[in-house]
Amino acid sequence: MSYSTPKRLDKTAQRTLRIEWSDGFSQELGFLQLRRACPCATCSEEQRGQESSTTSTELPVLSAAETLPMEIVSMKPVGNYAYNIQFSDGHSTGIYTLKLLRSLD
Ligand SMILES: [Zn+2]
Repeated sequence: MSYSTPKRLDKTAQRTLRIEWSDGFSQELGFLQLRRACPCATCSEEQRGQESSTTSTELPVLSAAETLPMEIVSMKPVGNYAYNIQFSDGHSTGIYTLKLLRSLD
């Protein structure tokens, strides 16, 4: 089995990450979209929490960091299957597998 891998990664002026894959597929993912797709334990718990509290009258508030435009500070390869993305809100525990990146749109 061979998986395609990112051949090229670019941050665009529109706050998106452009990924060109080795099989010719290319995609553009918003920084905020990537941040929200963070697969780390803390974020997936938060996502679950939001889903289960839909009957609550309390609305989510934005933290100061969330009101600022999201930026990708760094993106480091983890082994040969994933990337660790550090965001401008200080969050950097998400390991984005190639499979996850490829599944986003
Ligand atoms: Zn996270």
